[in-house]
Amino acid sequence: MHSEHDGMNPTASASESAIASTSAFACAIPDGERNQAQRQGASSASDASDAGIAAAHAWLRDARHVVVFTGAGVSAESGIPTFRDALTGLWARFDPQALATEEGFRADPTLVWRWYAERRAAVANARPNAAHEAIARYEARGGRRVDVVTQNVDGLHRRAGSHRVLELHGDITRVKCLDGCGAPEPIDPAFDWRGDAREPPPCPRCGAPLRPDVVWFGEFLSEAALAEAQRAASSCDAMLVVGTSALVYPAAELPVLARRSGARLVVVDPERTAIDDIADAVVRAPAAVALPSLLAE
Ligand SMILES: [Zn+2]
Repeated sequence: MHSEHDGMNPTASASESAIASTSAFACAIPDGERNQAQRQGASSASDASDAGIAAAHAWLRDARHVVVFTGAGVSAESGIPTFRDALTGLWARFDPQALATEEGFRADPTLVWRWYAERRAAVANARPNAAHEAIARYEARGGRRVDVVTQNVDGLHRRAGSHRVLELHGDITRVKCLDGCGAPEPIDPAFDWRGDAREPPPCPRCGAPLRPDVVWFGEFLSEAALAEAQRAASSCDAMLVVGTSALVYPAAELPVLARRSGARLVVVDPERTAIDDIADAVVRAPAAVALPSLLAE
């Protein structure tokens, strides 16, 4: 189902889906570089200890530059189903490849547009949760730079009030020209493309259909966004990874970059992730539960 996605290729794009190759961590950090906290067991893959949480809180309180890297788990806590979980009911018979590829869109633009109209409606009805809000408050408090790097396409970090948000997989509430005319200029924000949820409207410049501004299967992430995320990961002094299995390449390399550059790495996820073993602390909890106290003053 996901065979076109070659995790060994560092330029292969991830997609809105959180399905992943397991080969992304060929470049795991050698044991010798793992830090003291981990050797002392603070980042055990079992439930986080109070000491681990206290240490993580202190690192995040004292850091001058923090990258908060978020994935589908954070959106799910706002009730937004993952791409795959949304393939229910009328959509259950469709292959994700038909709904989230350029080929699929060209073959049946109406079908794909209707799918995304439903996804947009789910996003419009959702609200930022306590995790989004805690991240926004953390930035607003000042005293440090906070970059949010997200694999989510729902715009909830911005709606919660975060200002520095890098959307690696795009934003489902934006559109772009299928033929890329005028790229990388965005479509005029005044252009009303939402009038008809049934058909993709024509590009106001060239008449080609407009498509959702998200990264589809087989597509590349924006080079500029990825480069900016890599720069942030390499220069932060703490990275907080939340609600992502951290398997999808190339975004999955960001925690590795951060660790290599000496940043503290804190993972928050109810389930085991691919980067638990290189983390300084692992908090085994839902984001909306853990973040308000972890990012508190
Ligand atoms: Zn166009």
